[in-house]
Amino acid sequence: MIPIPTLEQADRKTIQRFQEEKLRQFLAYLQAHSAFYQKLFTAHRIDIRTVKTLEDLARLPFTTKEDLQHKNMEFRCVDAAQAADYVTTSGTSGDPVLLALTDKDLDRLAYNESLSYQCMGMAAGETVQLTTTMDRRFMAGLAYFLGARKAGMGVVRVGSGVPELQWDTIARINPQVIVCVPSFLLKMVEFAEANGIDYRRSSVKKALCIGEPIRNPDFSPNALASRIQGKWDIALFSTYASTEMGTAFTECVHGVGGHHHPELIITEFVDEDDNPIPYGEAGELVVTTLGVEGMPLLRFKTGDIVQPHYEPCACGRTTLRLGPVIGRKNQMVKYKGTTLYPPALFDLLNDMEEVENYVIEIANDEFGEDEITVKVGAKDGSEELLLKIKDRFRAKLRVSPRIIFVSIQEINCIRFPENSRKSVTLFDHRK
Ligand SMILES: [Zn+2]
Repeated sequence: MIPIPTLEQADRKTIQRFQEEKLRQFLAYLQAHSAFYQKLFTAHRIDIRTVKTLEDLARLPFTTKEDLQHKNMEFRCVDAAQAADYVTTSGTSGDPVLLALTDKDLDRLAYNESLSYQCMGMAAGETVQLTTTMDRRFMAGLAYFLGARKAGMGVVRVGSGVPELQWDTIARINPQVIVCVPSFLLKMVEFAEANGIDYRRSSVKKALCIGEPIRNPDFSPNALASRIQGKWDIALFSTYASTEMGTAFTECVHGVGGHHHPELIITEFVDEDDNPIPYGEAGELVVTTLGVEGMPLLRFKTGDIVQPHYEPCACGRTTLRLGPVIGRKNQMVKYKGTTLYPPALFDLLNDMEEVENYVIEIANDEFGEDEITVKVGAKDGSEELLLKIKDRFRAKLRVSPRIIFVSIQEINCIRFPENSRKSVTLFDHRK
């Protein structure tokens, strides 16, 4: 087993002192190399020598996604000759942002993802099957590859989709872990059942689940996870990451939130008005990257609403743990007096066996109010099913969105737009 870094088992004060030392070095680096932050410090008359503690950090301005989009090149701290790899963000909201990674950044990325495998209890010599895209300027696939190598693990890069090729690979190579979007596991089970593959006895015992939540806020398995494990009882590990952070928060075997790696990132949590939230409550995650050379970020607002948990974990780590993403700040829906986030809608639909696939559209109605339309693909698009879905929405979420049946194929076309690296489930047309 790969050992837990000492810092992740240290007391809070030790971790804080470590981060404050890193923060001072980081600010000096920005002052010397980042056109964006040089301007920002001048404009706000910030003397970085006065920023010494994590408390001081909270006096500095935030960096937003719009800053990154509009002044992308100003964030870059190295010239083209030092770039080892280029990636872009997935661009789910607005233009994708370009990041250049240096050789050291790739090492950092490898270290970061080796910690994910470490959290999952993986060991050197084991093999991981990657079902993520390795190309298309995607960071994650590369990160999982580099991290596995750093951890002494072997990798087989199958790429996304094609259940047949996934099972063929599992049969030939016997990987212990698969990295995938969790709903894809259901597709794999479906294929296995249709083709007489004894999937329950396959070599795969663990899945690193990306892109979709698998837990409720109390860490119990959500509908999607229950559906997967009802069929195929493998250990599911949630991970939360983004290209901008270049950092992942992955669960350990106790499944109580993604572990924070304090060497890599400083976390803060703020409310709707950008004030720090009370200790332990859910808020928008704000991050400051540590050890990044190419495009480091100071107080970057992720837009993700998450809840931090501070009690030490049974695995021995004392670092904070992040609960599942409750929603994206800009995707909050105000619906007839109820506030909700799309993941709650996804969870409800994932829980219904009759629902083959779906997409959700949010738009403004003629009065400027939020309006939700759920397009459902089902083998049996009957009136009874429609009523059942409506009842479920009313009972669980106290909302009654417009529900329409669309063919399963059509929804697949909508969900996988050309040039997209990920499937899209939510379309937000609001102004
Ligand atoms: Zn743990």
